[in-house]
Amino acid sequence: MGLEMKTKCEKCEKKVQDNAYICVHECTFCYKCTNDMLNICPNCSGELVRRPKHAASWPLS
Ligand SMILES: [Zn+2]
Ligand SMILES: [Zn+2]
Repeated sequence: MGLEMKTKCEKCEKKVQDNAYICVHECTFCYKCTNDMLNICPNCSGELVRRPKHAASWPLS
């Protein structure tokens, strides 16, 4: 039930509020790390996608 938005990149711990990328498990990364990892989450091998700014619209169906 945790809808808390993560605000730090899990790799470099930079703040990622407006430019975060997440996988289906909500692993959170910054743009640079996401780019370095070729949009693949290192934790679950899922695809990293740009997180919508409005939490209410997430997850998208
Ligand atoms: Zn990062
Ligand atoms: Zn993941």
